[in-house]
Amino acid sequence: ANIVAIVGRPNVGKSTLFNRLTESRKAIVDDFSGVTRDRHYEMAEWIGKKFTVVDTGGFVHGSDDIFEEAIREQVHLAIEEASVILFMVDVTTGITDLDDEIADLLRRSSKPVYVVANKVDHARRTHESAEFYAFGLGEVYNISSVTGSGTGELLDEVVSHFPEEKEEEEEIPLPKLAIVGRPNVGKSSLTNALLGKDRNIVTDIAGTTRDSIRIHYNQFGNEFLLIDTAGLRRKSKVNEDIEFYSVMRTIKALEDSDVVILMLDANDGIESQDINIFHLAEKNKKGVMIVVNKWDTIEKDHKTTKEFETRIREKIAPFTDVPIIFTSVTEKQRIYKVVEKAMEVYANKTKKIPTSKLNDIMLEVIQNYPPPAIKGKYIKVKYITQIAGRSPMFAFFCNLPQYIKDPYKRFIENKLREHFDFNGVPIQIFFRQK
Ligand code: GDP
Repeated sequence: ANIVAIVGRPNVGKSTLFNRLTESRKAIVDDFSGVTRDRHYEMAEWIGKKFTVVDTGGFVHGSDDIFEEAIREQVHLAIEEASVILFMVDVTTGITDLDDEIADLLRRSSKPVYVVANKVDHARRTHESAEFYAFGLGEVYNISSVTGSGTGELLDEVVSHFPEEKEEEEEIPLPKLAIVGRPNVGKSSLTNALLGKDRNIVTDIAGTTRDSIRIHYNQFGNEFLLIDTAGLRRKSKVNEDIEFYSVMRTIKALEDSDVVILMLDANDGIESQDINIFHLAEKNKKGVMIVVNKWDTIEKDHKTTKEFETRIREKIAPFTDVPIIFTSVTEKQRIYKVVEKAMEVYANKTKKIPTSKLNDIMLEVIQNYPPPAIKGKYIKVKYITQIAGRSPMFAFFCNLPQYIKDPYKRFIENKLREHFDFNGVPIQIFFRQK
């Protein structure tokens, strides 16, 4: 997993840089689920390379006296878990004691560290930022995360650490499922219930470095690899930063998987952290399903399930075509249903719709509901093809692709979902010039 962690003391501009790298302000405006999301991690892309940016500042809570300790801990965790660390400092204040302390920790790390001098908004500041060479951490990158200047050069360097994205050399062609969710929702209990005592742990797969353990499951006609993060507890001191740690593990499990099983505790419902994970899965084009666990602890009548489902779908909009299953791991209710559904999602994610069937159905849909003409120009779709890839992508060849607007794309997506089962799978639609 390619994880870029932004560390630094408060107010240097970490979250502004985070927003710039991930463009999450745009995402928040787009969000019509009505939930304010405190996003501390998000997928980003630069020159075709994908990575996840983590704003460590977002995980520091509490009063001032525990603040510095918490920041130190974030730095330790970033050193352990991230692939690249951006150490952010503020040119307008210069080096503070806490900056020096953080630099000390980072100098001992073997991970690539970039010193990022923020708020370099005019030429004079460029000279001032030279003082940050005193950290002994190499090159200082001058940026203004408000205007975006300098971030391009920085990103060029950062992504040079990430391997070229290659067509997955699939060492074992098995579906990879990851159970993710907040602490205590029941992830380990589900893993244990599924695997029983026969934990056949696939640890050593030649030629690859692994961030997580893959467990080979092969029972009742279903065979897959379960990405296990629960089993990987931190070796070093476990303490208050469980959230940050579990987020890092979640990102890695998610990136390594084909299908993400997002587990919730029925007593808490779906919260902003869950929605963040859900969107991360969607953005990464992973299959996804939701499991509402501890259903045994909920007082129910005939409407309860439906109401729960509706509330969840409202909050994950607009991508709502995902399975939702209600389980009790302790009562062994519907736990195999989870496996079956996850395998269905995998099948949906990997299936190829025959071109003739695709054209028969979708050209008729388009004929009945053509895209609106613009300035008297009619848009004619000639044919449709599914593009090979790790998740479903469709190209619609037409005369004026630039005239196709988002509402029509959404309409087409809904029709594809209606006619061909893509439950649990993000799909991409492109209109292209013939
Ligand atoms: P994890 O942190 O997500 O791996 O959660 P665990 O599997 O450790 O479970 C946390 C707690 O919730 C444990 O005490 C479990 O026994 C309990 N638990 C898990 N699933 C259920 C369930 O379906 N119903 C109830 N009542 N408790 C559950």
